[in-house]
Amino acid sequence: MQQKPLVSLKDIKKYFPVGSGLFGKKDQFIKAVDGVSLDIYPGETVGLVGESGCGKSTMGRMVVGLSNPTGGKIYFDGKKLSEYKSKKELGKNLQMVFQDPYSSLNPRMNIADIIAEPLVLHKFGTAKERKKRVDELLERVGLSAYHGTRYPIEFSGGQRQRLGIARALALSPKLIVCDEPVSALDVSIQAQILNLLKEIQKDMGLSYLFIAHGIQAVKHISDRIAVMYLGKIIELSEKEELFTNQRHPYTKALLSAVPHPDPKQRNRERIILKGDLPSPANPPTGCRFHTRCPVAISECKNIDPKLLPTSAQSFTACILFKKEQQIVN
Ligand code: SF4
Repeated sequence: MQQKPLVSLKDIKKYFPVGSGLFGKKDQFIKAVDGVSLDIYPGETVGLVGESGCGKSTMGRMVVGLSNPTGGKIYFDGKKLSEYKSKKELGKNLQMVFQDPYSSLNPRMNIADIIAEPLVLHKFGTAKERKKRVDELLERVGLSAYHGTRYPIEFSGGQRQRLGIARALALSPKLIVCDEPVSALDVSIQAQILNLLKEIQKDMGLSYLFIAHGIQAVKHISDRIAVMYLGKIIELSEKEELFTNQRHPYTKALLSAVPHPDPKQRNRERIILKGDLPSPANPPTGCRFHTRCPVAISECKNIDPKLLPTSAQSFTACILFKKEQQIVN
């Protein structure tokens, strides 16, 4: 891509202290995110996929400034997040939609007040103008102005997610981090919410970082997809390329579980990974995937592979691929 990135992550880390050593000094850390670099461009959707506990939600919270990285830098519009004067200033442009909209909607407030909250905080217009904006937002997400007088408990899961989106859109942000926004919904409702997000993106030109553990939802909405494993991105690719020519053994395993539309491909072997995701407090040495990788070789225990280009728009972190690359070149 030739444009400048809207958001740029440079070697981001987030470590949470868990243990104390001598004199109460923290000496053990959960390395939730451990050296992630990623650019998100204007109008683009980057899907972020991986098992629960791989660090994707932690990364999403850092992107919108809800959590500060332990190391590395995050840029928005060319300026470091830490250089923005306040969270309020960032909140105008960076918003988040959560998996469980109910817990993020105050049950004591009516819907109009919930959606107007960011408008009040940012001193948007008069009360009449805010009311007009709230009505527009409700209609934009497929609800009606009259829903404004109701309370969160009166809405279904899908409708609550629409309300969460309306509130995130209130200040016309440039990027929304959608953290598992459809994981708790029925399949038919999931499709409606994904289509709504796509329509909104077409109208407003905003960018999404779309986080999910299921690769199907990510496929539906993303332009590029980043696959995360134990705090690191292990493959990053254009969507089509990831689905047709994925390289990393972990991505191959994830995709082997997805039903294939081509009947000839339907009998392909499902790759079942051994064991659970290792603890991020004590990640394996070398390639973090080596304890579960079906094609690991002895060097994998000692070499931590870098995310290297495998084509114009694809990157993979696997020493096998690097070897192939060396042979070819
Ligand atoms: Fe598997 Fe080794 Fe590649 Fe890691 S580096 S994905 S363990 S083959």
